[in-house]
Amino acid sequence: MLLVYTHPHLYMVEMAAERLRAAGMQVRLRNQFSLGAAGELAPQDTWPELWLEVAQHQQLARQLLADLLSPPTGPDWCCPACQESNDPSFDLCWACGTAKPD
Ligand SMILES: [Zn+2]
Repeated sequence: MLLVYTHPHLYMVEMAAERLRAAGMQVRLRNQFSLGAAGELAPQDTWPELWLEVAQHQQLARQLLADLLSPPTGPDWCCPACQESNDPSFDLCWACGTAKPD
Protein backbone atom coordinates (compact mmCIF):
# COMPACT_ATOMS: atom_id res chain seq x y z
CA MET A 1 0.00 0.00 0.00
CA LEU A 2 1.08 3.52 -0.72
CA LEU A 3 0.09 6.79 0.94
CA VAL A 4 -1.10 9.17 -1.79
CA TYR A 5 -2.92 11.91 0.08
CA THR A 6 -3.47 13.33 3.55
CA HIS A 7 -5.38 16.40 4.71
CA PRO A 8 -6.60 17.72 8.09
CA HIS A 9 -10.22 17.62 6.89
CA LEU A 10 -11.76 14.18 6.45
CA TYR A 11 -14.18 15.34 3.75
CA MET A 12 -11.23 16.30 1.53
CA VAL A 13 -9.72 12.83 1.94
CA GLU A 14 -13.10 11.21 1.28
CA MET A 15 -13.56 13.31 -1.85
CA ALA A 16 -10.12 12.21 -3.07
CA ALA A 17 -10.97 8.58 -2.26
CA GLU A 18 -14.20 8.81 -4.25
CA ARG A 19 -12.34 10.19 -7.25
CA LEU A 20 -9.89 7.29 -7.25
CA ARG A 21 -12.65 4.72 -6.67
CA ALA A 22 -14.53 6.18 -9.63
CA ALA A 23 -11.41 5.48 -11.72
CA GLY A 24 -11.52 1.84 -10.60
CA MET A 25 -8.77 1.98 -7.99
CA GLN A 26 -8.88 0.25 -4.64
CA VAL A 27 -8.15 2.66 -1.82
CA ARG A 28 -8.25 2.60 1.95
CA LEU A 29 -8.72 5.41 4.45
CA ARG A 30 -6.75 5.52 7.68
CA ASN A 31 -6.84 7.84 10.68
CA GLN A 32 -10.48 8.81 10.08
CA PHE A 33 -11.13 8.76 13.81
CA SER A 34 -7.75 9.67 15.27
CA LEU A 35 -8.24 13.40 15.86
CA GLY A 36 -8.82 12.54 19.50
CA ALA A 37 -5.14 11.70 19.71
CA ALA A 38 -4.12 15.22 18.70
CA GLY A 39 -1.98 16.71 21.43
CA GLU A 40 -0.16 13.45 22.00
CA LEU A 41 1.04 13.12 18.42
CA ALA A 42 2.35 15.61 15.88
CA PRO A 43 -0.75 17.18 14.26
CA GLN A 44 -0.03 15.78 10.79
CA ASP A 45 0.25 12.29 12.29
CA THR A 46 -3.46 12.43 13.13
CA TRP A 47 -4.66 13.63 9.71
CA PRO A 48 -6.89 11.28 7.75
CA GLU A 49 -4.88 9.42 5.12
CA LEU A 50 -5.71 7.97 1.73
CA TRP A 51 -3.79 4.83 0.81
CA LEU A 52 -3.61 3.20 -2.57
CA GLU A 53 -3.88 -0.59 -2.53
CA VAL A 54 -1.96 -1.11 -5.77
CA ALA A 55 1.25 0.91 -5.84
CA GLN A 56 1.47 0.60 -9.65
CA HIS A 57 -1.51 2.97 -9.88
CA GLN A 58 0.50 5.70 -8.18
CA GLN A 59 1.18 7.84 -11.24
CA LEU A 60 -2.42 7.87 -12.43
CA ALA A 61 -3.69 8.40 -8.89
CA ARG A 62 -1.45 11.41 -8.37
CA GLN A 63 -2.53 12.87 -11.71
CA LEU A 64 -6.23 12.44 -10.86
CA LEU A 65 -5.70 14.03 -7.45
CA ALA A 66 -3.77 16.93 -8.94
CA ASP A 67 -6.63 17.56 -11.38
CA LEU A 68 -9.19 17.26 -8.60
CA LEU A 69 -7.44 19.47 -6.09
CA SER A 70 -6.12 22.27 -8.26
CA PRO A 71 -8.70 24.77 -9.42
CA PRO A 72 -9.14 25.14 -13.16
CA THR A 73 -7.01 27.83 -14.70
CA GLY A 74 -7.16 29.59 -18.00
CA PRO A 75 -9.04 32.47 -19.51
CA ASP A 76 -12.49 33.54 -18.40
CA TRP A 77 -15.23 32.08 -20.57
CA CYS A 78 -18.02 34.01 -22.21
CA CYS A 79 -21.58 32.82 -21.65
CA PRO A 80 -23.16 31.85 -24.99
CA ALA A 81 -26.60 32.92 -23.73
CA CYS A 82 -26.04 36.27 -22.04
CA GLN A 83 -22.44 37.14 -23.09
CA GLU A 84 -21.42 37.56 -19.43
CA SER A 85 -17.77 36.84 -18.51
CA ASN A 86 -17.26 33.92 -16.09
CA ASP A 87 -14.33 32.67 -14.00
CA PRO A 88 -12.77 29.46 -15.41
CA SER A 89 -13.69 27.59 -12.20
CA PHE A 90 -17.43 28.17 -12.82
CA ASP A 91 -19.30 25.34 -14.53
CA LEU A 92 -22.42 27.48 -14.86
CA CYS A 93 -22.81 31.12 -15.84
CA TRP A 94 -23.05 33.16 -12.64
CA ALA A 95 -25.57 35.49 -14.22
CA CYS A 96 -28.04 33.18 -15.98
CA GLY A 97 -27.09 29.60 -15.05
CA THR A 98 -26.27 28.42 -18.56
CA ALA A 99 -23.75 25.55 -18.61
CA LYS A 100 -20.18 26.30 -19.65
CA PRO A 101 -19.68 25.26 -23.28
CA ASP A 102 -17.13 22.48 -23.95
ZN1 LIG B 1 -25.16 33.68 -18.91
